[in-house]
Amino acid sequence: MVSAIESGWVAPAGPDLAAFEADLAAVCGTAGAVALASGTAGLHLALLTAGVGPGDQVMVPSLTFAATAFAVAYCAAAPVFVDCERRSWNIDPTLVVDELDRRAAAGTLPRALITVDLYGQCADHDPIIDACRNYDVAVIEDAAEAIGATYRGRPAGSLADLGILSFNGNKLITASGGGAVVGNDLERLDRIRYLATQARQPVVHYEHTEIGFNYRLSNLLAALGRAQLATLDERIADRRATRDFYADLFADVPGAALNPIADFGTCNSWLTCVTLDPATAPIDVDALAAAFAAANIECRPLWKPMHLQPVFAEAQMIGGDVSADLYAQGLTLPSNPNQPDFHQRVTTAVRAALGSAS
Ligand SMILES: *Cc1c(COP(=O)(O)O)cnc(C)c1O
Repeated sequence: MVSAIESGWVAPAGPDLAAFEADLAAVCGTAGAVALASGTAGLHLALLTAGVGPGDQVMVPSLTFAATAFAVAYCAAAPVFVDCERRSWNIDPTLVVDELDRRAAAGTLPRALITVDLYGQCADHDPIIDACRNYDVAVIEDAAEAIGATYRGRPAGSLADLGILSFNGNKLITASGGGAVVGNDLERLDRIRYLATQARQPVVHYEHTEIGFNYRLSNLLAALGRAQLATLDERIADRRATRDFYADLFADVPGAALNPIADFGTCNSWLTCVTLDPATAPIDVDALAAAFAAANIECRPLWKPMHLQPVFAEAQMIGGDVSADLYAQGLTLPSNPNQPDFHQRVTTAVRAALGSAS
């Protein structure tokens, strides 16, 4: 960071950008990477270079952060939401395969599908990728929350045609803001790099033959991201320790369960969530959230499913009520272990909520 300032490369491009991209490709096990101003920009350019355009449909899990679906809207395409599976809280592969079979027969295949690796855990990619390849549907992996996670031994980001990462302030690795596209198709990555820098033709006289975007990450922020990336292993170890702490805390609470981790991969435990089953738990999530608020500890609901969002009221939804159920019964737990007395304060707040129920 300091060397980036001292070197004078506060201008857009520079050596840290290329080095950050090389580091990202190494972490994700891909041939290349393009660093961008945000993960959302990465989704947008991944969709555009998959040929997604006006009137197309793109399958997206309902349980995700809105940016996944917004990027589809930027292409004037329509999201088709798919419910998640209980095993991983990610897009349900059975629903995807059945829907693609049905649509193939009807001649209404979507142009693309976006998988999301929610809360740091990869989706069950193998059956999804097989079905999409079979029907020539492009697949993009939204690994914004999952850097450092794995699926059957392969790194998050490398599981589809292209993967996208986010370095927004709330993510495991941050550049205060930023994102990337990673993948093995170097020609496509070059095209994304070109579109992200205002589609400038390689001539001196500012010639443009297509509409471009100002989506490149700056060299200064790349230096920041690089410094953070060097500590990825420690960051993941910290998050896993936080998950272990919550596993102990809720172990004896009837009806309480943490977000499940499926046996097909490893999770970076970016955030830990709890669900409280209304049939058996002594308190509900509202009471738990109120206890955290009373103790001045910040916590959040789960991502509100996209098919319940007013802005997507017209969109199609495939599957049942799993994502809506999780949203109603789940809470994203406080995750700031570097605060003084964090564990003690959280423990006291949770015991207070449970105590007032008995
Ligand atoms: C954070 C996030 C994004 C967007 O990343 P930005 O860098 O904030 O644009 C996209 N998808 C998911 C699932 C995210 O959590």
